[in-house]
Amino acid sequence: MKLTAIVPCYNEEAALHFFYEEMQKVMQDMQYVDFELLFINDGSKDKTLEVIKELAAEDNRVKYVSFSRNFGKEAAIYAGLTYSDGDLTAIMDADLQDPPSLLPQMYEAIVEEGYDSVATRRVNRKGEPPIRSFFARCFYRLMNRISKADIVDGARDYRLMNRAFVDAMLKMSEYNRFSKGLFGWVGFDTKWLEFENVERVAGETKWSFWKLFLYSIDGIVAFSTMPLSIAAFLGVTMCAVSAVAVIFTIVRQLLYGGSAFGWPSMVCIIMFLGGIQLLCIGILGSYLAKTYLEVKRRPVFICKETNKAKTGEQVKDSEEAQ
Ligand code: UDP
Ligand code: MG
Repeated sequence: MKLTAIVPCYNEEAALHFFYEEMQKVMQDMQYVDFELLFINDGSKDKTLEVIKELAAEDNRVKYVSFSRNFGKEAAIYAGLTYSDGDLTAIMDADLQDPPSLLPQMYEAIVEEGYDSVATRRVNRKGEPPIRSFFARCFYRLMNRISKADIVDGARDYRLMNRAFVDAMLKMSEYNRFSKGLFGWVGFDTKWLEFENVERVAGETKWSFWKLFLYSIDGIVAFSTMPLSIAAFLGVTMCAVSAVAVIFTIVRQLLYGGSAFGWPSMVCIIMFLGGIQLLCIGILGSYLAKTYLEVKRRPVFICKETNKAKTGEQVKDSEEAQ
């Protein structure tokens, strides 16, 4: 059996050697599997590509795909899935936050227990800034309430999948990719493994708070149309409230007079409604923007350099997708 491990790398020169060493141990233990390490260099600005090429020169199990610029981790995952030709495909971070030592267990679950994929989640967020954990929790709670996609709190992108699962993932060639949702959306039998959070071995995280915030909005827009319903609901509620207010004002004018006064309250109401209208237009706009990006059908990534040949079928598939 061939196992392709996809490793998205963005400025990971410091971590790659640790990763490779750790993987070598696992590959040693799993002699019964034909390994391939598929590094996706996501437009790194440091020596990541050089390091990968050095590894590739020494070890022919090391393959790489190098992007023409930074396209983001989601694009790197998609590229990895397109290029992967293993019977099994794993996705793992380069910083050893996804412990390679879990691979034998994951392999067993698919080959012996018959699962289609094995996913992992960390049970705690040790070593993470508390505010980040707090917002992450809120996001998962909100997401599960407003979306049908089953998104698990603490789920990592670390996963092992069989061919059927990968093919299903590739059928979704959408431009705005939110893998955590897509994994759940395709279905299949997934086994969950849990592990304690591990801090990154070297280098720095590539996700600032702001980047994560925007990513969470991507996730919501990609997997839920609830915000649009909320906008519509607000509109209807406002109409009802104003109808009651009109009747109240007319009746009061007829009974007591003097209802024409009170422009400050009028200004407040106008500002309030103006705000709600802008918010709703904004929500609408964010869906429109995503649709706009989607209909342009731009490729998810552009490969500049690779030592991995795509099979004929994959080339056809990805051309069709584009
Ligand atoms: N990554 C990437 N492209 C990016 C950002 C990150 O390929 O634009 C890779 C990165 O090299 C790492 C993985 O995605 O292998 C996870 O990134 P990181 O460890 O910075 O995220 P965190 O674990 O802190 O959420
Ligand atoms: Mg990390």
